[in-house]
Amino acid sequence: MNIIDHESRKINNYPKVYKKFKEHFSKVNVGKVVFDNEHFVIIAGPCSVESYDQMMEIASLVKNSGAHILRGGAFKPRTSPYSFQGLKEEGLKMLFEAGKAYFLPIVTEVTSIENLHIALKYTDMIQIGARNMYNYELLKEAGKCKVPVLLKRSFQANLDEFLTSAEYILSEGNENVVLCERGIRTFETSSRNTTDLNTVIMVKERTHLPIIVDPSHATGYWYMVEKISKASMVVGADGVMIEVHNFPERALSDGEQSVKPELFSSIVENLKKLSKFENRRID
Ligand code: PEP
Ligand code: MN
Repeated sequence: MNIIDHESRKINNYPKVYKKFKEHFSKVNVGKVVFDNEHFVIIAGPCSVESYDQMMEIASLVKNSGAHILRGGAFKPRTSPYSFQGLKEEGLKMLFEAGKAYFLPIVTEVTSIENLHIALKYTDMIQIGARNMYNYELLKEAGKCKVPVLLKRSFQANLDEFLTSAEYILSEGNENVVLCERGIRTFETSSRNTTDLNTVIMVKERTHLPIIVDPSHATGYWYMVEKISKASMVVGADGVMIEVHNFPERALSDGEQSVKPELFSSIVENLKKLSKFENRRID
């Protein structure tokens, strides 16, 4: 197979995701927040919604530090069935209230067609997580909705598989897709995953879709989050999604990779400084 055949095969697999001309970058709006290849969007919040007070407290702190979108998981796809599974619709209500109180659009993960429809009553953006990147029925259903979708890369997916999953959503008519690199599984096990920053550059080369990086899941350690966030901006990402917890040691999930609010605040300040050199806007 020569290079041209190989290229055309890829275009056939994801024609709607493929970039049509050099400066082709689509815009995705989430409430008043925009992903447009110019703004650097900061999504922050706890891994899981744990209680009303926790959500209100974290929403207030991340809003004050300059976050643009509030995250919080209510349907948690945990590796073990004995781990905390999320507060489900009650959790969505808490996330919704916190977003409303602090004027932050919200994003939350859905793991099935059924909870996608429950989440649509509350959320501004749905997240399809790494474990469901291959759930084609869920992707098609998300494609039938107009809601913006944050599609995370599976830890075992190559770029073609990732983009073909995005194509499932676009092919059903929903073009509001933001991709998320969240680390892949490699032979290196010293950190939770390996952040594949090459992919950010490749996605910008091949597609018109925005892409962000999740340095929390990509590394598994809170002390790596700032540097990987900066590196993400340098390679051209459109934003980051950072797990923030007011008491990481007591978090019901992912405490080890959650930054405290004070650190989150200084990460945002440092990203703002860097944005001046990288031609990015953080409003
Ligand atoms: C998450 O963002 O809460 C999450 C579970 O991430 P991932 O799907 O990337 O593992
Ligand atoms: Mn998490």
